[in-house]
Amino acid sequence: MPFFTLQHPIDSPEAAALPQPVKDVWTQYRILDHSQWLSAAEIVEHQLHEVRDLLQHCQQHVPFYSRLLRQDNIVPDEIRTLTDFRRLRIISRRVWQEHATELRAQQLPPGHWLTAKSTTSGTSGVPLEVLQTNIVHRWWWACNLRDLEWGGFDPRGTLAGIRPPVRTFAPEELRQYQSGVTYAEWFPGLSGLLQTAPCYGLDIQQEPAKQLAWLRGISPNYLLSYPSNLDMLANLLQDQQASLPGLRAIQTIGESLTPEVRSRIEAAFGVPVKDQYTCAEAGYVASPCPDGHGYHVHAEHVLLEVLDSDDQPCAPGETGRLVLTALHNFLNPFIRYEIQDDATVGATACLCGRGLPLLKSIEGKSRPYFQLADGRLKTSSNILFGLYDLQGFRQYQIIQQALDRVTVRVVPDQNWTAAHPDRIRQVVDEFFEQPISTEVEIVARIERPASGKVRDLICELPPRTL
Ligand SMILES: [Zn+2]
Repeated sequence: MPFFTLQHPIDSPEAAALPQPVKDVWTQYRILDHSQWLSAAEIVEHQLHEVRDLLQHCQQHVPFYSRLLRQDNIVPDEIRTLTDFRRLRIISRRVWQEHATELRAQQLPPGHWLTAKSTTSGTSGVPLEVLQTNIVHRWWWACNLRDLEWGGFDPRGTLAGIRPPVRTFAPEELRQYQSGVTYAEWFPGLSGLLQTAPCYGLDIQQEPAKQLAWLRGISPNYLLSYPSNLDMLANLLQDQQASLPGLRAIQTIGESLTPEVRSRIEAAFGVPVKDQYTCAEAGYVASPCPDGHGYHVHAEHVLLEVLDSDDQPCAPGETGRLVLTALHNFLNPFIRYEIQDDATVGATACLCGRGLPLLKSIEGKSRPYFQLADGRLKTSSNILFGLYDLQGFRQYQIIQQALDRVTVRVVPDQNWTAAHPDRIRQVVDEFFEQPISTEVEIVARIERPASGKVRDLICELPPRTL
C-alpha cells in the first residue's frame, strides 16, 4: 500500500497528462519500493551491472577515465565482483578538483542532459562544482519520497523549512524569503502528483528569536533545518517555556546530527528527529531505517564502501572512511570518490527485512558555532553561503580566534583577484554583524593537523553553553 496519496489515480486521464519527468519520478519510487526487499546479493548484482554501464560510458566519453582505465588495464565489462570493482582507484576530493575539466563527459547517452550545477565543500574547505542531470534529479526525487515515507512524513501535513536561500533567487525573492514565504505545495518539481499541504520557507540566517516567532505563527506539522540551527531554537524554546503544539516530527539536513544535539532537540520540541545523509556529489546516500536499526544505504543509487586504513571493507561494528560511487551521474562521474566522512558498519541483515546495506552510524559534517560579541552563538555554516559566491580559491579555512578576530586561510586559484581579500573581510563582517579584524592569509596548502582531518571552520574560543 503506497504511503503517499496521489492527487489523481495513476490510471486517470489527469495522471496521464502529468509531465513525463514527474511520471518518471513516481515510477522510480515504485521500483524502489520493490527493490528495497531484494536480497543483499541481488542488490550487489544490480549495482555491478550499473557500474559496468557507467564505466563503459566513462571509458568512451570522460577523458580522465579513458586514460585511467587504460593505464590500470581495467576493462569495464570484466567487473563481475566487488573485488574486481575495488581495482578501480580511489579518487580524493583534491584529485577530483584538480581534474574537474577532464571529469566532464564530452557526450551523454540519449535521454541525459545537463540541468543544474551545485557547489559543495564538505567540511574540508575544498569547494567543488558538480554538474547534475535530469536523471540525477529523477533519483533525487525518488529517494526523497522514500526518505519521507521511511520517516513517516505525510505531505498532507504542513512543512516549515528553515534553510539557506536558493542561489538563483532574485533580490525581491530574497527579501521576501528573509521574512518568510508560503508555497502552495511541498514539491514544486512534482506538481500535480501528490496531495500536499502548503509549505513555508524562511532564511536560516534570520535571528533565532525571529525564527521561533515565525514558527509559532504558522504552527507547522513538520520542521526541517540544520541541526545547529535547531539546537539554538531548542534552547530558545525551553527558555521561553514554549511549544509548537501541531508539530509531529523534525527532519535535519545539511550537517551531521550528533546524539547529544538530537536528544536536546527531541527534549525541547517533544517530537522525533529524523536525519539523512545526502551530498551534492551523489544526492541521497542513506536514510534512517523505518524500524530504527540505523541507516539504510540507497544502494540502487549509490555504491557505498566503508573502508579501513588498508582500503579493505570494514566488518560490522567497525568504523571506516566512506568511499562512494554515484551510479547515475553520467556527466560528472564520482567513482570510488572519497567523501571525507566516516561511518560505522551495521548488521549484515537488518531486522526490518530490507536487503539494503545498513550503517550503524554516520560521522559526517559537523561544524562549530561562532561566537558574537553580544553573547549570541551563530551557526558557522552560515558564513559559507557568502564565501561560495566569491569563488577564486581551491580551499579555505576560517578560524575564530577571539570575539573580534578571525583568520581566513585561502589557497587561491586562477580566478583569485586583488579585490578578493576585501570581499572576504566584508563577508566576515556581515556574518559577525560588526567590523572584525580579519587576516586573510594566502597559503599554498592548508596543513592537515597531526590528529585528524582538515576542518573548514574552527572556533578557538572556549565553548559557550547554548
Ligand atoms: Zn532496516
